[in-house]
Parts: sequence; structure tokens; C-alpha cells
Amino acid sequence: MIELDGAAGEGGGQILRSALALAMITGQPFRIRRIRANRAKPGLMRQHLVAVQAAAEVSGARVTGAELGSSELQFVPGRIRGGDYRFAIGTAGSCTLVLQTVVLALLYAERPSTIRITGGTHNVMAPPVQFLQQAYLPLLARMGAHVDIDLLRYGFYPAGGGEVVARISPCQQWRQLVLHERGRLLSGVADALVAGLPSSVGQRELGCIGVALGWQEEQLRLHRLPGEQGPGNAVLITLEHEQVREVFAGFGAKAVRAEAVAQDAIAQAQDYLASGAAVGEHLADQLMLPMALAGGGAFTASTISLHATTNAEVIGRFLPVAISFEEEKGRHRCVVKSTCQAG
Ligand code: ATP
Repeated sequence: MIELDGAAGEGGGQILRSALALAMITGQPFRIRRIRANRAKPGLMRQHLVAVQAAAEVSGARVTGAELGSSELQFVPGRIRGGDYRFAIGTAGSCTLVLQTVVLALLYAERPSTIRITGGTHNVMAPPVQFLQQAYLPLLARMGAHVDIDLLRYGFYPAGGGEVVARISPCQQWRQLVLHERGRLLSGVADALVAGLPSSVGQRELGCIGVALGWQEEQLRLHRLPGEQGPGNAVLITLEHEQVREVFAGFGAKAVRAEAVAQDAIAQAQDYLASGAAVGEHLADQLMLPMALAGGGAFTASTISLHATTNAEVIGRFLPVAISFEEEKGRHRCVVKSTCQAG
């Protein structure tokens, strides 16, 4: 039984989500104490509870402690089963973080799967659906893992009610990915999403981005979503380089000015552009696990967060890999190496 401390490192929900994914894939049970101890509301929230329930259903696991607010959990996985699954978060909790928990495991099923999840699709502190579609999944495909995600309906905090569906094909053979250089900049676009709010919110965001990044009108796109999918607003900056596409998000919230929402996304994009690295903070976080499953890989990143180093620790508890970080010329390099003896 692998013992995990949910207060270690960043002490957030990622320790739990990565542990669930890795337990299903490797068949190793784990126990975690002090779940999300460093968060304002510690313990299992709806999104985490649904992630646990989804992992249990997908892998026929025996679970104790799966209750709202619980700070301890024991998870004993069974066999991963492909199929059609539906999960409802019931709040605006993030659909994409539930996907993050089960998608990689379903690559190991004997047949294709679909997962339909209702909840939030554009949440602060979670990957927006377009980030997964545009940035993460194409890299996963280069590693040999084929997953599609459709956004059926937007869900914003606090109303939720969004819906996504993911289709996962079993992975035949992982390929290692080395992503040192991002290559030449091919294109950049900004998308402002506005639901049940005045269009001027999105127009102001796009205006700020246009000025900050020196972009033309045709690079700035306003999407007026059906009013009943709101109120909600997010802005996405997508940068396509030869080797990688990145998506940086700002999320609207009550009493936060549109200019501040745009500025958040602009700062992330500028930081990334200035770093010269292949990936930004969040792709760095999320690439380590599939690279570890592939038996190795490497990338350069603009930032290595405490979230990433905490995640690396969890991965190392389940898989025979060493994950190292070093800094060179203002950018970071992450190397994932198998520690299995060759032959
Ligand atoms: P909690 O404890 O509330 O569950 P957490 O500590 O796990 O949260 P975060 O550290 O915010 O949550 O990260 C959650 C996941 O969402 C990480 O994989 C992170 O890379 C990803 N993420 C957060 N914001 C973005 C974003 N803007 N774009 C892409 N991915 C994101």
C-alpha cells in the first residue's frame, strides 16, 4: 500500500488526481491522509469526489473515505474497463480535472471508451476545454495516445451546467517525446467567450490583447455564447509555434474588470514568449505523467511551479522514473527518465 501525504509540497488536489490515475494504471493501491490540507477548504470537494467515484467505476476499485469533506481515502484499484461512462459533478466543479483523472487510465482499457461529464468547463485553476483540445491532446497524440474532446455546452462558475465528452482509444504503443524547442511562431489568436453578459466585456478584453501583443483585428475573435450558458466570461490566447501550441487563459469573475482578466492571460503569454521555452507552466505540469508512462521524455518550460514538483514526487512513488529539473538561460528543463535496468 503506497502511503501519501496530501499536505506534501503544494498540498492541493493534484496529489489525489495523479495518485488515482497512477493507481489505476499500475494496479497499486494507495492511502492518502490530509487531503488538500493547504487549501482554504481542505478535504474532498465535489470535483474531487466525482474524480474518485469516476476512477472507482472505471477500475472497479474498492474505496473507503469517499465522502464530501473527507481528508483520508484508501483506493484499491481493480481492472480498468473500457466503456461508456457518464459523470455529473452537480456544481460548477471542473469537468476537465475529472477528465485529467480518468483519461490516461482508459488508454489502458481493452476497448475504446467515451466519458460524458457535466459541470464547469471554464474554471479558474483548471484547464479550459480548449487548452486540452488545442495544446495538450496534440502532444499526447505525438506520444501515441489518441483522445478527442468535444465541448457540448459551456459551464462557468457558479452556475455550472456545462458538458464535455471525451473519446479515448486504447494506446497501442507509447512514443517518447522530446520538446526542447518550440520552433518559429506561426500564428496567434485571441478568443473572448461571453455568455449572458454584454459583448463589450469581450471587446474590451480583445482590445487590451490587441494592444499588448500588437495584433490585428482578424486575430481577435469575439464569441457570443447562448445567454442561458452564462453568466460567464473567459479569454484565451492561443500561440502556435512549429513544434507546439499553447493556450493561455484569463477568467472573468464578479467585480473583476475585463482589463484585468485580459491582463492575466497577456502576462502568461508574454512570460512564455520571453522565456524561449517550448511549454508554459500548465503544459509542464501535465506532460510529466504521460511522459513517465511512455518511459521517458523531456521538455523546456517557462516555469516549473511547486505544483509541478509536487506532481513529480507523486509520479515517482508509483512508476520507476526519475524526474529532474534544471535551469538554463532563464528557461527550465525537465527530464523524465526510466530507472528500469535495460534488458
Ligand atoms: P485543488 O486543490 O483545488 O483541487 P489543485 O491544487 O490541484 O486544486 P491547481 O494547482 O490549480 O489545482 O491545478 C489544477 C490543474 O489544472 C493542474 O494540472 C494545472 O496545470 C491545471 N491548470 C490550472 N490552470 C490552468 C490553465 N489556465 N490552463 C491550463 N491548465 C491549467
